[in-house]
Amino acid sequence: MARERHEQRLRIKRLSISALSHGMLLIILALALLLDLLNNFSIANFFFFTLSAMVSQVTFWLLFHYRINLKLHDPSLTLLQITTTIAWFSLLISLLPEIRGSLTILYIMVMLFGIFQLSTLEFACAGLFSLVCFGGIIIADFHLRPEEVDLRFGLMQWVILASAQTWIALFANYVRRLSVRLKKQRHVLQHSNRKMRLANEELEQAMEQLDEIAGTDELTGILNRRRFFEESRLRLENAKQYQPSVLCIIDLDHFKQVNDRFGHQVGDSVLERFCQITRECLRGSDLFGRYGGEEFILLLPQTNQESGMQIAERIRHTFSQYTFDTIEEGLTFSVSIGITLHRYGETIEDTLNRADKALYKAKDSGRDQTVYISATDATA
Ligand code: GH3
Ligand code: MG
Ligand code: MG
Repeated sequence: MARERHEQRLRIKRLSISALSHGMLLIILALALLLDLLNNFSIANFFFFTLSAMVSQVTFWLLFHYRINLKLHDPSLTLLQITTTIAWFSLLISLLPEIRGSLTILYIMVMLFGIFQLSTLEFACAGLFSLVCFGGIIIADFHLRPEEVDLRFGLMQWVILASAQTWIALFANYVRRLSVRLKKQRHVLQHSNRKMRLANEELEQAMEQLDEIAGTDELTGILNRRRFFEESRLRLENAKQYQPSVLCIIDLDHFKQVNDRFGHQVGDSVLERFCQITRECLRGSDLFGRYGGEEFILLLPQTNQESGMQIAERIRHTFSQYTFDTIEEGLTFSVSIGITLHRYGETIEDTLNRADKALYKAKDSGRDQTVYISATDATA
């Protein structure tokens, strides 16, 4: 639709060039009339040609404006415009024997109008039509005024016009073939461009997937240690102003026994279940990663000590309530959690050390509990 509107606009623009050409010729004629250079051409003739040019150009404009041209075989109406102009122009120069020779050049100008739009056959037909019209004028002139007209001059003019028309037809053919080749090349270029863009998008998607895989813990599907630290650093070290953030280390209690009693695979399934339960207790903005083995780390951004304790306790409590009946009827596990607040400006490793101390405290105090350590407690 947009393309059709664009083409229609182009057609009207081309019509305005045609109207301008008609106008220019009429101005030249008016000047010749003023200078009294024309013998057989009256002011009445001039008005007739002005009026007929206006009628033809306005008719074409109406056809374009009301989109009637779109229903026709060639919506550009180029052949129709060219033949109408040739007929109008031939009638005009039939009344101007004095300047006819120099005006024949305008036949070529009219032909240039169809250089891109017309097919080779249509172009040849339009050229032939101009030759027939011009030939008709010469013969009619000779019949009407045999004593004044030297047929040899007329014949010479016709031959010159015929040569020029042949030349322009060959030239138009060459230009058209060139334009077709260029269009084809552009098409090929667009096609390969599109293919490259698609390949690029696929590559970017693959890279994203690879990046995700590279940052994911294989067993549990949560962040691995490396990605957890990368992401945490981005969040903490790029923070423009201080926002309380909580860091937790979670360690499954007596996990070695699980492996020893039920085997490594069962141990794996417990780790997976623990991660599922913990995820359900977290917000989208929280970071959850596997620190190693049966130890996990949590970064809770924009969380103060109180809310951090609440979240940690919720995780600990929910997990301890979960019964692993498929392993053994009523089997439950517990976790110990060390928790601390991140201090503005300190490294994530420093915060982690403090959380680790808190975890040891929790283990020392009998496990299955959450212990908080503040920065001042840690240095004490
Ligand atoms: P504590 O309460 O002191 O933490 O005791 P624990 O037994 O949990 O701690 P310990 O560090 O002695 O043992 C950790 C065990 O976790 C040892 C290892 O067999 C097990 N483990 C570590 N990673 C994995 C894993 O990926 N899969 C399984 N199934 N077990 C693992
Ligand atoms: Mg443990
Ligand atoms: Mg451990």
